[in-house]
Amino acid sequence: MNKSMKILLLILVILFIQPAYSQTISKQSAWLTVTAEQQKSITKVNDELKSFLSKARTELTSTREVLSIAKSKGFKEFTDASQVKPGSKLYVNNRERAIALIVVGKNPLLAGSRVIATHHDSPRIDIKARPLYEANGYAMFQTMIYGGIKKHHWANIPLMLLGRIDLKNGKTVDVAIGNSHDEPVLIIPDAAPHADAPLRSRVYTGVFDGEELDPIIGSMPNGKNSVVAQTLSLLSEQLGITEDDFVSAELNLVPATEPRDVGFDKSMTASYGQDDRLCSFIAVQTITELSDPEFTTIAYLTDNEETGSINNTGAQSSFLTGLYARLTQAQLGDKYSDVDTRASLHLAQVISADVNDGINPLFPSLSEASNAARLCYGVAIKRYGRSFDANSEFTARIRKILDDNAIAWQTASYKVESGGGGTIGGFMSKEDMEVIDIGIPILSMHSTYEVSSKIDVWNLYRFFGAFYKSGK
Ligand SMILES: [Zn+2]
Repeated sequence: MNKSMKILLLILVILFIQPAYSQTISKQSAWLTVTAEQQKSITKVNDELKSFLSKARTELTSTREVLSIAKSKGFKEFTDASQVKPGSKLYVNNRERAIALIVVGKNPLLAGSRVIATHHDSPRIDIKARPLYEANGYAMFQTMIYGGIKKHHWANIPLMLLGRIDLKNGKTVDVAIGNSHDEPVLIIPDAAPHADAPLRSRVYTGVFDGEELDPIIGSMPNGKNSVVAQTLSLLSEQLGITEDDFVSAELNLVPATEPRDVGFDKSMTASYGQDDRLCSFIAVQTITELSDPEFTTIAYLTDNEETGSINNTGAQSSFLTGLYARLTQAQLGDKYSDVDTRASLHLAQVISADVNDGINPLFPSLSEASNAARLCYGVAIKRYGRSFDANSEFTARIRKILDDNAIAWQTASYKVESGGGGTIGGFMSKEDMEVIDIGIPILSMHSTYEVSSKIDVWNLYRFFGAFYKSGK
């Protein structure tokens, strides 16, 4: 073989190997394979997501929205064992803050089940129990931080007040102020650049102190009342409450901004609270589209993830285990024992679904590119190598579901020693369930306006549907 033939042969070998390499190692944007028909489905699921995010801004409002969707799709409250029949669509509302939707499978729970578990609380600012005070002629609210926020994000943006106030007479006052354009919003005022020289040396994480994150709630005293007394009397009039009632209240400040398309190509969505009402909504959407699955499927939306999954509505509570006991007992009747619940849990397959941080175009060095997730590259299998992690055999099973259904996917691992974050996966793994962390990447995570890719949302939607229907 002469030299030029050798070069020709080498070129042919490289051309032959290259496509296999680009498909397996160097992933590509999922937009490159989208058909016109698929584009319609992408627009539909993302428009529905935007509409949900606009209404569901806290765990309370999310539970309310999910209940209304579930009821409209024929789900009934699970109150009696006789309801547990193949094909039944049931829900359990856990204290208005967490919710499980169930579609009973053809096989008994003891043969296995499919669960997608998410959280539908998001980082925000909460109102303290004794919130009212005056500062330089303004009426103010004392607040505390809920979840991992960057404090400066919350200044100078319109905030609405959502939540509930529970009264001694047993009544609950629903609070939603700032939801529509004719209602007022609250503002945490930053200092002007004209006067902030003494503040300029503050460090990145301390642009605001925690105790400085207080919104102005009024500025108009009258002849009889101070500005605080006057603002309280307005609130009392509107809500029928006294100052003491703030002690038994859950009041949240959340951005009064609407979900919007991002980019001239409208390929992304920006909204408050995509972590993790994005996965929550897609889990709800896919389970309400299911009929007669082989195995019992559950969408479980939990509360308090951003503060450690605590309380009886968080993923650490025994609620899900209790639900498995109720369902298993309903199927076994008199033969039932606790051991059966444990056996059902052992064979449960769980997607712990949550968004994760995507490679940021402005700060790419914060990610290790070969293992980090990028927007538009599909569903992310999260591998942490520390704390909770799925075992390799369950991960392989999930890879097969993704590949068999031609779903774009990638991996997500944090750069070593640069940060990290937890999920609810470990709490269900502790109950002996088989669990994996899956999500899609977003930008501006834990900010007041998070950005997701529409093609990733669509791939997540297809993956959840395929997982719910997956066999043994
Ligand atoms: Zn999350």
